[in-house]
Amino acid sequence: MGSTTDTPALATNPKFIFFTDFDGTVTTADSNDYLTDTLGYGIEKRRQGNVDVLAGTVHFRDFFKGMMDSVPLPLDQCVEILKKNIVLDPGFKEFYDWSQENNIPIVILSGGMEPVIRALLDVLLGPSWNIQIVSNNVGPRPGSKSVNDENGWELKFHDDSIHGHDKSIEIRKYSSLPNRPTMFYAGDGVSDLSAAKETDLLFAKADKDLVTYCEMEGVPFVTFRDWTTISQTVKDIVAGKTNVKEAAKGRI
Ligand SMILES: [Mg+2]
Repeated sequence: MGSTTDTPALATNPKFIFFTDFDGTVTTADSNDYLTDTLGYGIEKRRQGNVDVLAGTVHFRDFFKGMMDSVPLPLDQCVEILKKNIVLDPGFKEFYDWSQENNIPIVILSGGMEPVIRALLDVLLGPSWNIQIVSNNVGPRPGSKSVNDENGWELKFHDDSIHGHDKSIEIRKYSSLPNRPTMFYAGDGVSDLSAAKETDLLFAKADKDLVTYCEMEGVPFVTFRDWTTISQTVKDIVAGKTNVKEAAKGRI
């Protein structure tokens, strides 16, 4: 295989790649929602924002920037609070270990902030975890010296899209290739709309906004409640017991 600078998940020549959202998907709760609800403008305004993004009247980029701008606490203090309150999905560690043994790279595509995701994975998986992260970032607000000052940080978006991070950009580097691996995606919410149509099989978290979107848009998917069901389905596909088309059963 040639250079994989632009497609690092191909470095080990895998037959399958698992792209996934982070917040509320790898973890049970969304760390950005947690910050907004407990330290920022609160759950009601956030829920309304989700409704507006799904309805297409507000872009995720603008909604999400407003959420994060409403959190005044210094970034390092936010991270410490999240480390105490955010937990891993109950089936993720087992899936992660299995994927490592079976040459199935996991790529996190996140609308969240890279240093927050890194700090959480250090706690949740232990410091030697091996997952590529493509996400938004964080930097000092204009006029602020440090992200660790009060009102000191803001989102730095991955790209210029209406999503802030257009997750299709990374996925299409792979899907456009001939003889490419089979690709999966797992997500839960409005940060995943740009990824929903891009892979061979979409796992959408039960009872969450991504399911609503897929049904509105006619996007094939299968629901999951935690990674134990994702894990079983992927193992069955890898073993040839089922295929990505059969597995897209919608709500189960
Ligand atoms: Mg999410």
